[in-house]
Amino acid sequence: MEEAILLLGGNLGNRELALAQAMKKIEERVGEITAHSSIYESEPWGFEDKNQFLNQAIKVNTELNPQQLLEQLLKIEQSLGRVRTGKVSARTIDLDILFYGNEKINTDTLTIPHPRIHERLFALLPLAEITSNTNLPVLKNTTEELIKVCQDKSKITIFNFKR
Ligand code: ADP
Ligand code: MG
Repeated sequence: MEEAILLLGGNLGNRELALAQAMKKIEERVGEITAHSSIYESEPWGFEDKNQFLNQAIKVNTELNPQQLLEQLLKIEQSLGRVRTGKVSARTIDLDILFYGNEKINTDTLTIPHPRIHERLFALLPLAEITSNTNLPVLKNTTEELIKVCQDKSKITIFNFKR
């Protein structure tokens, strides 16, 4: 059993419902969700779109290996109606693996820890809510330290406090 930390996001349709449906499918197909952050709202990052994103970070205990985990997440994205256009674009649901235990992975299909965590506040702020003040897996920093040096100036607000 390993603990994975995932980032859920989406900016199309009923965004809150998409997050809730993704969590339900993750419980069914991946494993028990042991923690979740508040939901944050942010501007699209790296492309123009009128629809704001919602993001949420979760911790999940899983028996799946990293490749199996990725495959399940891609299937869940598909089942929730994500259409892949081959470039960064609007999406119903995006499920990214931020961490998988203490593993460092670099294959054609998988990079863990996720390579862009440190440059994106929409990942760091929810992550901070579910990680304690110790160094993140593999990385030599706490989430708080990464937030302090992060250059991301985009506007991020809490959409829905953790319940
Ligand atoms: P992005 O999340 O960067 O906007 P996509 O969701 O379209 O882009 O993901 C494209 C591919 O990224 C996935 O098919 C997967 O193979 C790859 N990938 C590499 N590392 C990861 C990771 N840590 N989590 C999720 N996908 C990853
Ligand atoms: Mg993704």
